[in-house]
Amino acid sequence: MSVTPGLERDDVIENAARELAQHSQIILTLLNGLLVVTGVLLLAWSSLDWQPSIASVLSLVGLNLPTLANEYRQGLILLPFGLALGLSIIGIVRARRYRLRTREIVKEIEAAASDRAMRDALTGLRNRAGFKLRLDSAVEALGEDERLGILYIDLDKFKDVNDTFGHEMGDKLLLAVSNRLDEISQKNVDIARLGGDEFAMLVYHRPDANAICELGKAVSAGLGQPFLIAGTELSIGGSVGIVICPDDGTDPTLLVRRADIAMYRVKAGGRGQALRFDVSMEDELRRRKFLEGELRHAIARNQLEVYYQPFLSSDGETVVGVEGLLRWHHPEEGMISPGVFIPLAEESGLIVEIGDWAMRRALSEAREWSDIHVAVNVSPVQFRRPDLLPHFLGIIAEVGIEPRRVEIEITEGVLMEDAEAAIEIIKGFRNAGVHVALDDFGTGYASLSYLRRFPFDKLKVDQAFVRNLGPSNGSAAIIHSVVSLGRSLGMTVHAEGVETLEHHIFLRAAGCHHFQGFYFAKPMPYAACAEFIAKKRGFSSSSLAYRR
Ligand SMILES: [Mg+2]
Repeated sequence: MSVTPGLERDDVIENAARELAQHSQIILTLLNGLLVVTGVLLLAWSSLDWQPSIASVLSLVGLNLPTLANEYRQGLILLPFGLALGLSIIGIVRARRYRLRTREIVKEIEAAASDRAMRDALTGLRNRAGFKLRLDSAVEALGEDERLGILYIDLDKFKDVNDTFGHEMGDKLLLAVSNRLDEISQKNVDIARLGGDEFAMLVYHRPDANAICELGKAVSAGLGQPFLIAGTELSIGGSVGIVICPDDGTDPTLLVRRADIAMYRVKAGGRGQALRFDVSMEDELRRRKFLEGELRHAIARNQLEVYYQPFLSSDGETVVGVEGLLRWHHPEEGMISPGVFIPLAEESGLIVEIGDWAMRRALSEAREWSDIHVAVNVSPVQFRRPDLLPHFLGIIAEVGIEPRRVEIEITEGVLMEDAEAAIEIIKGFRNAGVHVALDDFGTGYASLSYLRRFPFDKLKVDQAFVRNLGPSNGSAAIIHSVVSLGRSLGMTVHAEGVETLEHHIFLRAAGCHHFQGFYFAKPMPYAACAEFIAKKRGFSSSSLAYRR
């Protein structure tokens, strides 16, 4: 039996059984048909007045018994008649019985197949199709004074487990999750695995919304407890979106969409919680979709622009470089904050195209400012493209700017995703003469070990530390240790968010090399920045040497 690609072993067996059932029905029908025909022929034969020929037929087979034939003439007429009738009846009954049995078998096979089609192979829970079927009937059967809850559950950090420990561990974890959901859920709850690390619960016959929301919270709290699998403790978490029928809608499709929106909202807002849907979430999503659609055309419609924020050497007068910062002017919405549209661009993948555009624009504009460095921010999403290094070096060559004037700013997110690949790319940039800076240092997980492993040229101290500088908190101590760490590893230390003279004095004393912030200059359009640089050059004759 050859296995058709795309068909599971079970499907093949099932198809064979169905074929066999059909074939045996055909064969039985033929056999029974033959019996009926034989009976009818015998009947016709016996009704003719051919008695003498019976004796000749018998003589043909060696039974020359004419006397016997004559004596039992009457009997010989009745014999084939009875035989014919009997055979016909047996044939008809058997054919009918087999037809019924075949039909039953096919039905059984189909029922088993459809149940299997409704179940998830790994956990045995209902799958998306099975869940949808249950939801439809639950909504239809909902009583007047009761509530139906739908919980959408998405595991947090499941991908990390798969990436770190492999898919086998991931599968075991999914099984453990399904068991834990079973423990947490009370009576009258159906659990489903919708696919990947997405689960759902249908909570039946609850008197009020509160009981359902409480269960949602219990689920997210329960999934927040570590799992012990094959001797390894795994900490994940669960984000839960809740909708309640009929309060949040009575159409199953709408309910599911709203549960998904609520779950998505939890994901975006820190994960590991349970939130009930509310209409403002839908408005928010609609706005995001609108902006995403608009962003798609922003380059073609000439709505994007690169602003430049200078950074200076310790004297506060010499412009060492500029950081290119993307701006979006929307004709109706006005200036849209990068804090809003950059995450949108990253999620939709548009950042690849927009990032290329920004890089090309920033490098070609800044090229004219001789010797000034130009820093470009690169998103972790851009870092995923395998040809990133040759692609960016290609842009640098095409624009015709010296590589040593280009700084690539990356965040810790890049290092977290694929450290080995990131190291190779960073080395490749450095070999080409391009500088690589670690942006927003101190806000994430980047530690001493990261700095040792990754060959950065520059460390940019996150502006939050500078902004919080004061006698009573730890920011000063953190800045001191970051500066000495950076310096001891031979990196340039760059302070962001310098807003006052006091900041500048403190950071200079601490040993920072480069200074950026409103105290010196805000991000500004190309022309304004060109003017700023020219003005500063008039004041200062210091060298623009880049500290290594
Ligand atoms: Mg930056």
